[in-house]
Amino acid sequence: MPNNDDLDFKEVDEDGNMIEDASSDSTDDNNKDDKKDDKKDDKRDGYERYCYLCRRPESECGTLIRMPNDINICQNCMQKTFDGLGDRLQIFDMNNLDLSKLSGMGMPRFQEVKPKKKAKEAKKDEKADKDKLDLEHLPAPHKIKALLDEYVIGQDYAKKVLSVAVYNHYKRVITNTMEDIEIDKSNILMIGPTGCGKTYLVKTLARLLDVPLAITDATTLTEAGYIGDDVESVISKLLANADNDVEKAERGIVFIDEIDKIAKKSNSKSRDVSGEAVQQGLLKLLEGSEIEVPVGASSKNAMVPLTNIDTTNILFICGGAFPDLEDIIKKRLLKSSTMGFGSDLKDQYDKEDVLKEVSLEDLREFGMIPEFVGRLPIICTLSHLDKEAFIRILKEPKNAILKQYQKLLALDEVDLSFDDSALEAIAEQAMEKKTGARALRAIIEKFMLDIMYQIPRDDNIGRVTINRDYIEGKGVPMIELRTTAVPRIDAQ
Ligand code: ADP
Repeated sequence: MPNNDDLDFKEVDEDGNMIEDASSDSTDDNNKDDKKDDKKDDKRDGYERYCYLCRRPESECGTLIRMPNDINICQNCMQKTFDGLGDRLQIFDMNNLDLSKLSGMGMPRFQEVKPKKKAKEAKKDEKADKDKLDLEHLPAPHKIKALLDEYVIGQDYAKKVLSVAVYNHYKRVITNTMEDIEIDKSNILMIGPTGCGKTYLVKTLARLLDVPLAITDATTLTEAGYIGDDVESVISKLLANADNDVEKAERGIVFIDEIDKIAKKSNSKSRDVSGEAVQQGLLKLLEGSEIEVPVGASSKNAMVPLTNIDTTNILFICGGAFPDLEDIIKKRLLKSSTMGFGSDLKDQYDKEDVLKEVSLEDLREFGMIPEFVGRLPIICTLSHLDKEAFIRILKEPKNAILKQYQKLLALDEVDLSFDDSALEAIAEQAMEKKTGARALRAIIEKFMLDIMYQIPRDDNIGRVTINRDYIEGKGVPMIELRTTAVPRIDAQ
């Protein structure tokens, strides 16, 4: 392989133009030697050379200029490169050629790899240091809850349970006391109706703690070997979300949604590959084990490298709506109460949030296998969101939907406001849909479409007030014109 010292360049004049026929007329000994070398090389390859930049063969583009690393460039491309250089021509001081500066000019192979790699590594190290959770920066439970309060409305009990569980988990991970004291992993089971904020809580938590998060749906999982994702794909997802950084992934959070859908199916004669078998498969992940996962792909195959991930410090949170669980709990509570002080407690259980009374026995009756629920020692229940909560969700969180629309219209210098009656109407419509707070956005988006379409048309509009009539399709929003017309920026 030739090195930089014995570069074989064509002669170039002061303007960077090629001096034609310099080689053909030359009787210079060096040139003769070079020609001999060329011929030798030609025989050795048996292929015609081609230009590294325009890919034309030598027979088409004329004698090629040979560069190190078996790169050949035609005179035309070399000329274009010189022309493009303009005042940066000084880098082509042939005696002191700085090859690294040629990168980005169509010559990628000249990049000096080493310094770039070093810089990348340094950056990675710096990021890893920053990413590392330490005891000093781990917020105390009350601080975690306060942060969650900024985004998640209500669900105080769940926020409290989560804050303490997460704090204890990371405290153990950071101080590495898991093995000494042999405390169970504090994996969490979240039970609450759909759209009450389970996923949202976990997402917010992971973002606040700056740890990688993988969210998966238990219904897509099947026993290994069957069509569908096997349970280990959850860890591949986490690794991908941690930018393939194993250490970071090992401190991440995995959220498995719809966990109630993998309950054991009663009276099922066929093999239950997506229910009980998945619970069995998840056992080893939940309790902590070394898993071999593909890097940069979701399934194992011969073409992708594998890496080992230890799931001991990964926090698993499982969530589900568990329909009918309330009935199971009520039945158990009533059975015990009627045996004792009579049935006067019946009404009390109807009113109270019975989910909070959930026990392992109830979950077992629901269809979860005891080993599985045993590995989720912390149970946190979320309550139904009522109308008041819906109204608060619309306007209070840091990134509330209404605030987002207000901001968008403020860019057009229009004030957007909502009557209290309008918020109530939206909340009522959302309650009817029975999909929890998820319905709010869908409803708002539907009626905001016209507003967002019409308002920017008219520069004179200064304020729009949405009222109940508009939400219910019986009227129009209240529009106030500017007292003095202010031309918008885009109208100038
Ligand atoms: P699920 O409980 O079914 O996992 P999600 O957490 O996905 O429901 O909630 C759907 C959406 O509803 C979230 O993206 C969020 O915007 C909103 N939401 C739900 N609950 C709350 C809450 N308590 N506070 C604020 N927003 C919420």
